[in-house]
Formats: sequence, structure tokens, C-alpha cells
Amino acid sequence: MAHTQFVNSPKSFVADAIRGLTACTDDLAWHADPGYLTRRTPPERGRVAVLSGGGSGHEPMHAGFIGRGMLAGACPGLVFTSPNALQIDAATRAVDAGAGVVHVVKNYTGDVLNFRIAADLARERGVAVEHVLVADDVASDKGTDEAGEPVGPGMRGTAATIAVEKICGAAADRGDDLAAVAALGRRVADGARSMAAALRPCTLPGADEPSFDLPEGQIEIGIGIHGERGTERRDAMPARDLVRLLADRILASLRPADGDRLIAVVNGLGASHPLELHLLFGELHDHLAHRGLVVARSLVGSFTTALDMAGASITLIRCDDEILELWDAPTEAPAWPNAPSRRVHGPGAAAPSSGREEAPGGEASGAAPAPGRPDVRPPGIGAVGEWLGAWARRVIDEEPALTRLDRQAGDGDFGTNMVAALGRLDVEALRTASSPAQAFAAVSDAYLGHAGGTSGALFGVWFRRLGSAAADAGADAGSVVFAVPDLARGARSGLDAITALGGARPGDKTMIDALDPAVRALETAVADGRDTGATPSAAAALSSAADAAVRGAESTAEITARRGRASYIGEAARGVVDPGALVMAWLFEEASRAA
Ligand code: ADP
Ligand code: MG
Repeated sequence: MAHTQFVNSPKSFVADAIRGLTACTDDLAWHADPGYLTRRTPPERGRVAVLSGGGSGHEPMHAGFIGRGMLAGACPGLVFTSPNALQIDAATRAVDAGAGVVHVVKNYTGDVLNFRIAADLARERGVAVEHVLVADDVASDKGTDEAGEPVGPGMRGTAATIAVEKICGAAADRGDDLAAVAALGRRVADGARSMAAALRPCTLPGADEPSFDLPEGQIEIGIGIHGERGTERRDAMPARDLVRLLADRILASLRPADGDRLIAVVNGLGASHPLELHLLFGELHDHLAHRGLVVARSLVGSFTTALDMAGASITLIRCDDEILELWDAPTEAPAWPNAPSRRVHGPGAAAPSSGREEAPGGEASGAAPAPGRPDVRPPGIGAVGEWLGAWARRVIDEEPALTRLDRQAGDGDFGTNMVAALGRLDVEALRTASSPAQAFAAVSDAYLGHAGGTSGALFGVWFRRLGSAAADAGADAGSVVFAVPDLARGARSGLDAITALGGARPGDKTMIDALDPAVRALETAVADGRDTGATPSAAAALSSAADAAVRGAESTAEITARRGRASYIGEAARGVVDPGALVMAWLFEEASRAA
């Protein structure tokens, strides 16, 4: 059995889940025989009841939408299998409060047939039933014949279903009669279109394989919510392009007029993160605005899922004042957002793409000495700006490797943190900084202001201390020189600060393992110079510091971490070099090179 879900046995998957659901929901009762859910609160006499149902695996739809102001009940089938007619008939009679029942049915043959049969059975017992069909998925649109009837089974019913359930539920709650509730439901369903794309297929509980295979780096477009394959497959593309593709297909079918108001739904298919869904909505909003359409309401979240599929659908729904009023009406259904947006605020300007792409290429390449610039190197370690620039460039170039190390031993964000800071540096400005103190301060600010994580804080403080040492050394403004004794002092002060903040000691598998030996090597060189009365050779001092730092960093591979995220996985990180130590070792290597 594939281990992609929490499951006792595939056979009892749905029943086991319903058991937990009713246990944690106040107004929900499960009637095991023949199998339907209703509110616990008895139906209010004289109100129309809205009933839905369908295969399981789309939760929170439908069970989560049972509650005052939405559904009176729902009939869950097995995973991706329609409920049977007797379940629906019993549920229909149970929820009827004398004013009739509206069936909200997704357009799949099994659902349609079973709801039809159940409606007939219920009518035989004197219950009035109306049927509202939801058929919104444009990917399954085969067009219409000469008579205007859909070719084939018609479009599949997907996420627009929850909008129909919401509007019908609110209309029933305000006291509309059966015909009026059904007419509103049809109006919403007719004015709604959806389309979905998947980044990863879903796997049925107990299945050995996902519902379709999707090679790495590909997107399946036009998928259904039961693991049906899509209508086309594309190479991975930026989310913005995917949103435009889906929205344009939807709009081609919906054909709203200029200035029409729409409800826009971004729906996660089960395994896509809220951050991704919000990102998609920002793009969708921009695109609709660009096309002259008004987003009157929005709904973003995972409502109509396809088990654990990674992907999302977009639904656009034409609306008018009455639909909006019903959309805004309160409901106690647990899965409807408790504070849905009543207004759509423009998302603001799109950010420049962040992270690696934003990082330099261009900027950092300024790290190499500009042609024609006189290469005058006074004693000391040479131009601090060039040293730091070369180091920053190296760290940025090595981001993938650093990320890999932190993924093996920590949480994988180290490389991103480095790039978030160093990618902000204007390397050219560094090279022409008026003093070493200013150059160090720029790097420190970049870390403290733009990087996160442990490393952002510790590197920020480290460079701050180097900057203070440079300032204390009284290097003339205009000087680009940082003498070895000053560096030794600054590095010791930085090491002390990191130790005080993070509490790590040598042997804890952190950057300290590179820093501590490097600082000691610098101090030894300074002391030796003092003993012999000679100015320490910058080149020799820095080369011994670099060697010590590199050896220290390499030694971390043999250590089990006791500090930082790597400590959570203990032994498992053995053999992996600590990325923070590595980057510190590079700093000394680049210093040695610059000397
Ligand atoms: P996190 O993900 O743990 O917030 P980062 O991924 O940004 O941190 O940085 C991880 C690096 O930080 C490690 O490679 C290690 O060198 C360093 N580090 C972690 N904890 C400490 C500590 N207490 N003292 C010094 N360095 C530390
Ligand atoms: Mg990390």
C-alpha cells in the first residue's frame, strides 16, 4: 500500500473520517443506515432544505457546508463514487421541513441518476424536490449541438458547487420558497465556470500508484476533481502565466461584458499551500482588472478538493446585487470562512520576483576589479570592498549547494537567507565604500535587514563587530585598508558576540567551528609579529587563518550537531558539512586571496 495518507484500511476510510468529523462538529449528525449527514438541530418548519452529496474525497465539500444558512444535509458516497438513490431518498425525507428540498447535484452521470431516482422516490412520499445541476468545468466542455444541448455528458461539476450551495442555503434561510431557491441556484450555476490544473496527481487510499503519472517539471492542465487526467500537459510555467491561461479559458466560455462583476474563487485541490493560493489570487485579480472586469467578492482556500492532489482551480461567477447579498449572508457552516471578504482590495503592485532571481548576476559581477582601475594595494588585506564583494559573489553562486547542505542537516533555508542578504548588496558601492567600516556596515545591514533565520542574525552581528573594529582603528576615511591586528580584534569581538547570542561552542557543528580556529590563527600571527618586532605579513596571517577556518569547517562533517536546526536530527546529519561554517571559511579564504 502506498503511504500517502493516514488510513486504517482503505475499506473504512470514509466511515472512519466521518466518525471523527461528527465528533468534532457541534451541529452535525451521521445516519449510518443508509448513510447521510444532517444538522443535529431539527429543520425549522416551513423552510426549504438544501441537500447535496457526491463522492467523498472533495472535503470540506459537502459535509463542511452543512449548517444554518447553507446545507441541511449531505450524502457522501465512497471515495469518488456517487451516493446511491436510497441514501439520497432517506436524506431528502429527513431534511424536508414541509417546504420541499433542493438537490444541488454535480454533473456526473452517477450523481445525476441517483439524485433523479431519489427525487422520484421522495416525491412518491409527498416531498417536493427541485434539482439544480452544476456543470462548470470548461476543460470538459465539448460544445453544444444544433439544438443547443451539450454534446456528451456536458461539463463536469466542480468548485462552483459551493457557490450554488451558499446562495441556495442563504435564500432558503431568508424564507424563499422552493421554486425561488431553485431558480437562484440555477442562475448561479449558469453564470459559473471553472478550470483546474495539477502539479501532482492524487492517490486513492490503498492504491499503489497515483491517479495519473505526471513527470517532474510538468503541469497537467484541465484536470478533473477525481484524478481524471487533464486535457493537456505543459512544461512548468510561472504561476502568473498559468493563472492567465486558466482565466482566459474560463472567460472565453463565460463571456462577461466589460465592467461585469464577478465572484472569483481560487480553490486548492488538497495539497496546495495557502501561500500558493493567495499568490494565485493576486495574479487572478490583476488579470481580471486588466481585462476590465470587476472582482466583487473573492474566496480563497481549499474547499473542493481532489484528495491529496497538488493543484488549484479558478472559478468565476457572474453576480448581481441579490447574489451578493446572499453571498454575504452569515452561515454557521463550519467550512465557510468565518470572515469572508466583503470587498476586494487591489492587491497592490506585484513584487519583483524575490529570492535568487533577484540576486545579482549583474550586480555581483562588479566584484571583479574594474578594468583600468589602478590596482594599488597598500599593506594590510587590500581593498575590503573587493574582498567582501568576491566573497558575496561566491556565496551567491554556491547557493544551491548551501541549500542542499542545510536541507540535509537543517531545514533548507540557509542558502535563501544568504542570497536574501547578499543579493541586496550593491557590490560596486562596496568597492568604492569610503572606508572598511562603511563596507562592513553595508554587509551587516543587508543581513540584519533582509535575511532571516539564525544565520541572518549571526552574520549581521559578526559584520557589525568587524565594522566597529575598523572604525575604532581610526582608519582614515578614504582608506580602503584594514590591517591584520584590527581584523584580529574585530574577529575576536565578532566571535564573542556570536557565542554570547547563540551559546554554541567549538564542536557544536556551527559556524563557530570555522571561526574559532581562524580567530586564533590571526591572534597567533599578530602575537608572533609582536614578538619578532616585525609587522605581521598580511598574506601569511590570512593564509593561516583561511587554512584553519577551512579545516574547521570540514571537521563539522564528523560532528553531530548540538546547536541550531541540525541538532534536531542529530546523528542523521553526520557526514554533512555545516553550511554556516563553510561560508565563514570562504570569508577567510577570500580575505587571503585579496591580501
Ligand atoms: P535556521 O534555519 O536554523 O534558523 P539558518 O539556516 O539561517 O538557520 O542558518 C544555519 C546556520 O546557522 C548553521 O549552518 C550554523 O552554522 C549556524 N548556527 C545555528 N545555530 C547556531 C548557534 N547557536 N551559534 C552559531 N551558529 C549557529
Ligand atoms: Mg536553516
